[in-house]
Amino acid sequence: MIYAGVDVGGMSIKCCLATEEGKIITKGSFVTKEGITCAEMAEQTASYIKTLAKNAGIEEKEIVSVGMGTPGTVDGKKGMIVYSNNIKLDHAPIVKEMEKHLSCPVFVENDANAAALGEAVFGAAKGLKNVVLVTLGTGVGTGIVANGQMITGMGGAGAEGGHMVIKMGGEKCSCGNRGCFEAYASASALLKQTDKMVARHPDSLLASLWAEKGRVGIVPFDAAKAGDKAGETVIRNYVNYVAQGLVGLVNIFRPDVVLIGGGISNQGDYFIKKVSRRLNRIVYGSSINDRVKVKAAELKNDAGLLGAVALAVRAGNARA
Ligand SMILES: [Zn+2]
Repeated sequence: MIYAGVDVGGMSIKCCLATEEGKIITKGSFVTKEGITCAEMAEQTASYIKTLAKNAGIEEKEIVSVGMGTPGTVDGKKGMIVYSNNIKLDHAPIVKEMEKHLSCPVFVENDANAAALGEAVFGAAKGLKNVVLVTLGTGVGTGIVANGQMITGMGGAGAEGGHMVIKMGGEKCSCGNRGCFEAYASASALLKQTDKMVARHPDSLLASLWAEKGRVGIVPFDAAKAGDKAGETVIRNYVNYVAQGLVGLVNIFRPDVVLIGGGISNQGDYFIKKVSRRLNRIVYGSSINDRVKVKAAELKNDAGLLGAVALAVRAGNARA
C-alpha cells in the first residue's frame, strides 16, 4: 500500500510517496508563487503527486490516502487551514480542493503536530504513546502525542508550546506577546543572545569566530567547546531557556520521551545531555520520579514529509 505525504512550506511544497512503514519511495518539491490561492495550491500539489507516481511506475489508484502538514492553525476535522502567517491562506478548505483532483481521501494537520506523530510512528519515539517534540528553528514548534493521539485542541489551535510565556514582560516574540518560549529558545533567539555577548566581550574567541564564520548558530557551540568563557555563558543560558520551556510541557504531559528537532539538534549529545541534566534537575518530583528521557529527533529533513505520511497511514487506515 502506498501513501502520499505533503509538507507545505512558505516558499515550496515537498511531496513524497511512501510505504506504510515510512519508507520513502520517491520525493520532490516545487516552488510556490507568492499569493497562491487554495484552489491553485491544491491543483498543483495533486498534479505533482500524480507525476511522482507516474515516474515511479505507481498507478494513482494504488495511493490509499494523502496526508498534509501545513504551518499555522489547521482544523483537521474540517480539513481546513484556518490561519497561517507563513503561507497566507486563511479559512482555506484545502482537503475539499485536493479531493477534487484525487480519487483517495486527503487529511491535513498542523506540520509540527504531524512531525510529532511521525516520530512516534516511524522515528525516535517509535512505538511510544506519549511524546513531546520540540523543534528549535527560526521559531519553536511543538507537537504533542498523548496516549497515541495528537493533541490539537479546539479548532486545531492548540499545542502551541512555543508561545508559552516563560518570562512575564520578557523579550518580544514574533506572535506579538512578550516572554514566549520561542523568544528565548529558537535558533534566531540564540543568534541574538550571541550578538549581545559578542558586544560585551569583543576580545573573546566567540567574537572572533562570529566575525570569521558569520552569524550562525554553530559559533557559540564551537566557542563553548573550545573553552571560551563568553561562548560557555551563551550556551549555558540557552540550555537553561530550552529546559525552562520544556519543563512546563513535561510537567503537564510527562511524556515517555522528549525529542528535540531542528538545526540545533545537530549539536547532538553535547547539547542534548546538557538539556537533559538541567530539565531533570527542575522537573516536578525530580528526586523521586523516573528520569525524563531526552533524545534528538530522528527524521531530520524528512520530518515534515514522514509526519504527513504518518497522518495518511493513521487516518487512511481508520477511514478504510
Ligand atoms: Zn509568542
